[in-house]
Amino acid sequence: MHTAQRVTYFRESVIREMTRLAMDYDAINLSQGYPDFDTPLPLKEAAVNAIREGNNQYSFTWGYLPLREKLAERYTSLLGWTVDPAEHVTVTCGVTEAINVAMLAVSNPGDDVLLIEPGHENFIPAIILAGARPVAVPLEHPEYRLDFERLSACITPRTCALLLNTPHNPTGRVFDAKEIDIVANLAQQHDIVLITDEIYDRILYDGRHHLSPGGFEQLRERTITIGGFSKTYAITGWRLGYMVAPTQLMRAIRPVHDFLTICAPTPLQIAAVMALSFPQDYYDGILSDYHQRRDVMVEILKDLGFTMTVPEGAYYILADYSRMEIPQAQWDSRSFAEWMVREYRVAVVPGSVFYSLPGYGEHCMRFSFSKKVETLLDAGERMRRIKPL
Ligand code: PLP
Repeated sequence: MHTAQRVTYFRESVIREMTRLAMDYDAINLSQGYPDFDTPLPLKEAAVNAIREGNNQYSFTWGYLPLREKLAERYTSLLGWTVDPAEHVTVTCGVTEAINVAMLAVSNPGDDVLLIEPGHENFIPAIILAGARPVAVPLEHPEYRLDFERLSACITPRTCALLLNTPHNPTGRVFDAKEIDIVANLAQQHDIVLITDEIYDRILYDGRHHLSPGGFEQLRERTITIGGFSKTYAITGWRLGYMVAPTQLMRAIRPVHDFLTICAPTPLQIAAVMALSFPQDYYDGILSDYHQRRDVMVEILKDLGFTMTVPEGAYYILADYSRMEIPQAQWDSRSFAEWMVREYRVAVVPGSVFYSLPGYGEHCMRFSFSKKVETLLDAGERMRRIKPL
């Protein structure tokens, strides 16, 4: 059977494989980043009503206008330039589609696209699907800071884009103004398009504020800002995301989105207008819940002998097990994760999954804490049995 060569470069998603193992072993699933608590009721009702009221056909390709208007309002204030819903916003089927669209819109086969590692496992496939070459730049444990020398050393005459995710999965880093300045200078100097994945932009800890790189003067004309609804509103299954970009970039983006998916789901876009109208209380509420979940998870892991950098944002902890007083502390991260799910019925993601660079990510596990506190405590109880001998 004739199949495309490009698929041979993909491996099976280990995150989704861990979710499958979690089901097989009836384990608590701290691997895939989705909540085990429910979507806000008014949002569910808005979606059901939208369907009942007959909004079941394609929406306008770029997205339901009232939703684009809401997004334009928010991003005008986040980015500091006038975001026009008619020109600068496109609603997509999740951030996942948006990243793929961005790659197809800015890169040519043979171009290089920089990405940061550790990083979300969908990024490299998106670059490969566009025919470009992924070039990974590592962040070093434990600070995981963006570094000028490392970034500039990876730039080639074929570098067309840099993909940056902040707040960052899986490290929990929130890149600061100094780090974004580094990116801005390099992007300008080498004429690079910046593609940002800001899906965790409402989940930041200890009073931190999200910095949207597209709001930096040098980056305004060359940034595709991507955001989503999955995480903030606990609707990962709705598949809703969006892209905000200046006119020239948006002109390249829109036909790609159109021919890939036509539009995002109409009734869910209508419900999402309500999400963007939630009062500040809603965001304060999710933030205080996430603070609690983060603190509970950090305590559980520290108690067990894991070491980690406490997350500044997003909802993951990358925890190192190499100092645990158990023989398994020497194992590679894949074996450790399989052992955890089999023996303790807690599913997590091996750190090596987040790197294509050899030798990185071993002895680390990613724990997702987008779960009820009782789920986290239950996982803690199960893992207590692996406490130091
Ligand atoms: N980007 C990052 C950094 C993620 O962590 C995830 C999901 O875990 C996604 C994108 C997927 O986003 P969406 O559900 O909007 O496709």
